[in-house]
Amino acid sequence: MVSAKGLLGGDSKPTKIYHLIKALENTPESKSYRESWDASKPVSVFKTPETLPDGTPCTAVTVILRTKGCAWWWKSGCTFCGYFNDVRDDITSDDMYSQWEEAKRRTNDFEGCEMAKVYTSGTFFEDRENPPEWQETVLRETFERELHLVIEAQAQMCTPEKLAWVAKHHPGCTVAIGLEAYDDRVLRFHVNKGFSTKQWHKAVDILRDNGLRVKTYLLFKPPFMSEADALNHTTSWLRQVAHHSDEVSVNPMNIQRKTLVDRLYRNREYRPPWLWSLIEMIQGSHEDISQLECRLIVHPTAGGKVRGAHNCKICDGEAVAAIERYSVSGDIGEFTNLDCSCKAVWRAELDNDSSLPTPLGSGTFRRGNPIDLARAP
Ligand code: SF4
Ligand SMILES: [Zn+2]
Repeated sequence: MVSAKGLLGGDSKPTKIYHLIKALENTPESKSYRESWDASKPVSVFKTPETLPDGTPCTAVTVILRTKGCAWWWKSGCTFCGYFNDVRDDITSDDMYSQWEEAKRRTNDFEGCEMAKVYTSGTFFEDRENPPEWQETVLRETFERELHLVIEAQAQMCTPEKLAWVAKHHPGCTVAIGLEAYDDRVLRFHVNKGFSTKQWHKAVDILRDNGLRVKTYLLFKPPFMSEADALNHTTSWLRQVAHHSDEVSVNPMNIQRKTLVDRLYRNREYRPPWLWSLIEMIQGSHEDISQLECRLIVHPTAGGKVRGAHNCKICDGEAVAAIERYSVSGDIGEFTNLDCSCKAVWRAELDNDSSLPTPLGSGTFRRGNPIDLARAP
């Protein structure tokens, strides 16, 4: 509940977080934006340097498909997720096959790639979201081409039957689960995730039983959390989930269009995390994580931009590049000699967050000249 009757509330009905999350999805503008997409073409197809499970450097192709979206979003949805901007309600099985063929055409049948990340803005193997025969085609074709496959899922969709079926068609593939936070209160009140840490543990056990690899996403700085809390909590979550994961990918918040977080940001109530915080988290946990043979990855989407993790503008490029290099090399030496005067501002923000009664944080929400910001919020 965001507001309620009681000490401060009026007689109006309380607003549910569901309504705040969904409010912008069904405006005529949002609908026409989604319907402008070509249903026969994927959202994007691109190649990046990656690392295979055995540590060998390789090239990975990422295929992001335009689907019907995520079943959890149909019901409610996560506070930060803007994938609904990229989906269409009327996607057919034929469209899914055309998009897959188009991805193969654009990459010359995945030439030079040893890994494929196939993302569907939801759970790959959820039959209500994606046709089962299409799922089977992707699993089989990537296996035949000896591509290491990475797919995504919500924890509660990981049933023993479905994962046994996935393992039958593509043994040993990686299933990435967006856990976001290893804390049930944060999952419920900050993220609205739709599953609990207990359900995540159960999913991990079923993945292991079927010989599948476990990748865990954590979200750095969910809404309604200060910078210092984000740093302390995520570092602690990372250490805990690393025991159960082959890879942990920490995703710093990037503000996606028309989400609850976007509303907070535009109201100057949320600043994406500092790159310094990500570096501090990596440096503080690197040794423990590498002893567990778990790989830590951080890819700051929109890094250095105001809607992504950023510092002061001057040092953003270098800081993002060092984090990206670390994600491939796993070498903590990437951060040597990285410094900037804005580090003192970041450090002061952490100190204030830890000593003042400001649970939502004490930092400025946007960078730039404060007078300009006051004139043009
Ligand atoms: S489960 Fe994933 S795809 Fe679904 S609403 Fe949450 S973040 Fe978005
Ligand atoms: Zn700086």
